[in-house]
Amino acid sequence: MRLSRGFLPTLKEVPAEAQIASHRLMLRAGLVRQTSAGIYAWLPVGLRVLRNIEQIVREEQNAIGAQEVLMPTVQSSELWKRSGRYDAYGPEMLRIRDRQDRELLYGPTNEEMITDLFGQVIKSYRELPQALYHVQWKFRDELRPRFGVMRGREFFMKDAYSFDASYEDAVATYRRMMLAYLRTFQRLGVRAVPMKADTGPIGGDLSHEFLVLAPTGESGVFFDAALEEQDWLHENVDIADHASLEVFFNGVTRFYAATDEMHDETSWEDVPADRRREGRGIEVGHIFYFGTKYTESMGISVSGPDGAQFFPEMGSYGIGVSRLVGAVIEASHDEAGIIWPDSVAPYRAAILSLKPGDEAVDALCERLYGAAPDAFLYDDRSERAGVKFNDADLMGHPWQMIVGPRGAKEGKVELKRRATGERFELTAEDALAKVL
Ligand code: ATP
Ligand code: MG
Ligand code: MG
Ligand code: MG
Repeated sequence: MRLSRGFLPTLKEVPAEAQIASHRLMLRAGLVRQTSAGIYAWLPVGLRVLRNIEQIVREEQNAIGAQEVLMPTVQSSELWKRSGRYDAYGPEMLRIRDRQDRELLYGPTNEEMITDLFGQVIKSYRELPQALYHVQWKFRDELRPRFGVMRGREFFMKDAYSFDASYEDAVATYRRMMLAYLRTFQRLGVRAVPMKADTGPIGGDLSHEFLVLAPTGESGVFFDAALEEQDWLHENVDIADHASLEVFFNGVTRFYAATDEMHDETSWEDVPADRRREGRGIEVGHIFYFGTKYTESMGISVSGPDGAQFFPEMGSYGIGVSRLVGAVIEASHDEAGIIWPDSVAPYRAAILSLKPGDEAVDALCERLYGAAPDAFLYDDRSERAGVKFNDADLMGHPWQMIVGPRGAKEGKVELKRRATGERFELTAEDALAKVL
């Protein structure tokens, strides 16, 4: 994108309503604009980040055999009356009436809808297991929408739902999902620690929240440092094998990790003092096994090997895709602005023209930009160099390709790595090779 024509309203002033760094930076770097309380429009650069995160989430869901669907945002109240949650869900649900006076709602989550869809299609144990997901907007009428996209009312979530024939299979699915989550967050460039979560009336130990560590997080967290050090992308797990999944799962859950809600001082004392980590975290994902809660309440059964009907075992698995944009920034920024991890960055690099109008500078910038127009934000504005440096730091591109009159004559570019401040003097070709 050429910045001179970009729809990219960067702000110099820190917006007063923004209390935390990610919210301030998202507004200042022109990623989003609030349209009403807790509801945001995603502008071109912000949308690119949102899509990059969504795509990584998608790839890791596909990698464990989950199938993507797209369910609507608007749902009928009938579905929720069948599960008994229509009244129970409370004021977070946005309820709507159509012109026939039918009760609709803007989906806060999709257990009912997916269970109903599943029941319409799957009739036999032979068609199990099934894991379905979508990435779709949700609405929850949060009492206190705040921190920008972090706690919005409308937000973008990946939600997956699994259906298995037995408890053992459901547990394997849950473990597979945990691995997919750990890989997803690592690829996004954040460390999200899985923490035991409340399972409510269902009990058991099959609910985990994934928290990104950040001082502005809403939950207190207590965990064993061992959980921060693992490389999940190179963890050798055979996802088709229950025993291998069990080894992996036990390897994760043997380390203490809990949010303040689930924290237990006695177990905490058992963690070696030098490995105890205490702080705050942002919930970016949540996985949950809940058995036959919805299949039973909604009367969705399939036929078993003996011909008798049974209720499939379910789980649901959410990732806050739009919240992650904020969470990544909370975990990766400095005084000057955002520091995008390579995997989610809206552009690979900013091309900073220090003297638009200078023949050699223009020619070199055009050559760089032309090599990969979709990968670069080309700052071709007639602004002072200082303004461009500041904006590039603020927007957080992994690389800056700085083109000035002296270097341009020799076909040279100054390359700056945003995260470290390292600088390299390179030919245009070498710079392109390094950046792309
Ligand atoms: P929270 O505790 O923050 O209210 P939750 O436990 O109600 O979240 P879940 O029902 O577990 O949320 O939804 C799955 C994921 O969706 C969460 O882990 C979070 O990342 C994201 N999410 C939930 N509510 C919001 C929101 N209001 N704005 C942005 N993302 C959200
Ligand atoms: Mg909530
Ligand atoms: Mg929660
Ligand atoms: Mg949750």
